[in-house]
Amino acid sequence: MLQLRPNCECCNIDLPPDSSDARICSFECTFCADCVAKCLGGVCPNCGGELVARPRRPADKLAKYPASTERVYKTGGCATR
Ligand SMILES: [Zn+2]
Ligand SMILES: [Zn+2]
Repeated sequence: MLQLRPNCECCNIDLPPDSSDARICSFECTFCADCVAKCLGGVCPNCGGELVARPRRPADKLAKYPASTERVYKTGGCATR
């Protein structure tokens, strides 16, 4: 099951579980669409894997299987180009 992390690891913007802007890699490193497009070039800076749109969990399932509230953030943001 996905953790559905609450923020972008790069710019720390909020990414709620119903956000269509969340992107994840296979390890669930989580970024916003903006950082992925402008800064990361579609590749996860942690593992080198591809970043894809994170599926949204339906609200009734979220009540039973809540999203993670643990923020993961890279100090200094994502790698500069
Ligand atoms: Zn971001
Ligand atoms: Zn990754």
